[in-house]
Amino acid sequence: MTVTISEAELDAALAEAHLPALLMSLVHLTGDASLLTQERRPAYVLLADGKLGGYHEAVQADIRDRAKAAILAHLAGAPLPPPPSPETVRRMMDWVAGADIPGNYAAFLTDELSLTGADTKSPNWTPEARKAGAKMKVVVVGAGMSGILAGIRLKQAGLDFTIVEKNPDVGGTWLENVYPGCRVDNPNHMYSYSFEPNHDFPYYYSTQPVLLDYFRGVTARHDLRPNIRFETTVEGAVFDEDRAVWRVEIQTRDGDRETLEANILITAVGQLNRPRYPDIDGLETFEGPSFHSARWRTDVDLTGKRVAVIGTGASAYQFVPEIAPKVAHLEVFQRTPPWPLPGPTYHDEVPAGKKWLLEHVPFYGKWYRFWLFWMLTDGFYEAVKADEGWKGGPEAVGEANAMMRGMLVEAIRAQAPNRPDLLEKVIPEYPLGGKRGLVDNGVWMAALQRDNVDLITTPIERVTPRGVVTTDGVEHGADAIIYGTGFQASRFLWPMRIVGRGGVELHDTWNGDPRAYLGMTAPGFPNLFILYGPNTNIVVNGSIIFFSECSVRYVVGCLELMAKAGAATLEVKREVHDAFNVRVDAANARMAWGSPHVDSWYKNAAGRVTQNWPFPLVDYWNATVAPNPDDFTLGVRATAEA
Ligand code: NAP
Repeated sequence: MTVTISEAELDAALAEAHLPALLMSLVHLTGDASLLTQERRPAYVLLADGKLGGYHEAVQADIRDRAKAAILAHLAGAPLPPPPSPETVRRMMDWVAGADIPGNYAAFLTDELSLTGADTKSPNWTPEARKAGAKMKVVVVGAGMSGILAGIRLKQAGLDFTIVEKNPDVGGTWLENVYPGCRVDNPNHMYSYSFEPNHDFPYYYSTQPVLLDYFRGVTARHDLRPNIRFETTVEGAVFDEDRAVWRVEIQTRDGDRETLEANILITAVGQLNRPRYPDIDGLETFEGPSFHSARWRTDVDLTGKRVAVIGTGASAYQFVPEIAPKVAHLEVFQRTPPWPLPGPTYHDEVPAGKKWLLEHVPFYGKWYRFWLFWMLTDGFYEAVKADEGWKGGPEAVGEANAMMRGMLVEAIRAQAPNRPDLLEKVIPEYPLGGKRGLVDNGVWMAALQRDNVDLITTPIERVTPRGVVTTDGVEHGADAIIYGTGFQASRFLWPMRIVGRGGVELHDTWNGDPRAYLGMTAPGFPNLFILYGPNTNIVVNGSIIFFSECSVRYVVGCLELMAKAGAATLEVKREVHDAFNVRVDAANARMAWGSPHVDSWYKNAAGRVTQNWPFPLVDYWNATVAPNPDDFTLGVRATAEA
């Protein structure tokens, strides 16, 4: 198809361009690596409007002029020169990042960048492995982001699989969370499968309906629906040691109980799925409507009502600004303030010109995604890592952390210069990175400064039929209460009962302290793979889709190992699992979220961080590129069954 664009339209599109990514396209279009001069290397600086600036104006104009000529020539049919050499690509990475990316990132980032357009994480099994794998039966629990991905990869590997989903549709969290203002807080051009880019996302940070559409679209393109049993709940699974199969107990949409048999069980149920209601006296006595953010009552009209919101985490941060203008009076009960991270484009639409560049300019989308990936993930890692022997006080964990804290506190102050009373409440005392930072474009502080909104920081004593009573004895009358109090994250896989070798139940083994090797496998539970399992959550942005892509590649790699070896079981060695967890704990203790001054859902009751990956993302990529056969015991069937 011939692509045409007027010069005026192209000028307008180039005005919207992310210039470092455009410069990389220019290198591809011209084959001229000498364009990578120091003056064209961005020095990202935070501008007064919160946006990142990188180039002098003359350099900007120069890049745009050159890009315009090269794009027009490309559209007119000029062939692409040979691709840049690996050394040039390596330099290009540094240029886009505006930093010298450490050498150990090269393989990882080359994979992520995938300039050839190849889906590098798709399974590439030998015909023999495929033949053996075709006899395997897999059950996947959940058809959210990770379950869909598992289905795609299993299908590509030619395996027989069923995805069991409790809801009537795919999408998981993006199906269930319909609260006003729900949207992803990662830039969408990164929060999307690497092999399913969407150049037409309407927003930089998509809203829930857009994301649900995206996941439905991916499901349709990969024709997964025939493999999904909707409105069917997995209640538990028992490993039959003699036959080396999981007996998966399900409840169908008609309420019938059935048992599915599978060689492999993959759970893809997320961490943030089961609402957590606060442990406050009198909750059940409230006479008006009350509901959790993840169970939003669309039938309750909040217009003109007095509303109490409990919690100020990621969900409340999104819905409070949406409901504030509608309600008569809103009281937001805060226990701990969140850290806002400036994101001026948070609610912005992607301009048409930028969409055009993403779709039509060779490699622009690839480099734009790469830039987001670097800046928002490992580029930020050092700032939330503790300095050894840090003596600077509990509000930070190191010098870089303290410096970043200072910048963010200024950004908060600038949003309410005349409200010292409010500032005192919203500036966190714990270190940045202790809890998940929330993307901020000013709407939160604007909502809190409305005449009809109050931020209450006096602790809650109880809920009464008429409202919320705080410890100072004040009763805050409310017509509705909304719980933005998060999820039962550390009860991984709950309420399913997973019974492994020797009749041992997984939660009993964990005893409130969930652990797995690389978040995925546990000794005593052969052929069980957990996606988004213990210690695979991320705090300072980064995309959980990246983790899922790594995990699923690894799991499918394990199945390939089994297929090649003709093994009936694969089970992680206890010493491998235990040694990994020792490393995880030591590393988590060095991160802001492991600080003893932070209390969060990332930690279990004993204070151990059970949720988070404490290393750079590159380490997860390296650890999961392919399974190490030495980490596992491969077993044959106990009976003579073929
Ligand atoms: P959350 O971050 O766990 O926040 C729960 C809030 O409720 C916190 O402010 C917590 O205070 C408060 N709280 C809990 N129990 C309380 C009690 N008994 N009394 C008073 N306050 C109480 O939950 P969430 O906002 O639903 O977010 C959970 C996670 O989901 C996020 O971290 C994020 O990973 C994900 N999420 C992502 C998005 C997105 O991508 N846009 C949106 C929503 C959620 P404390 O801090 O003091 O515990």
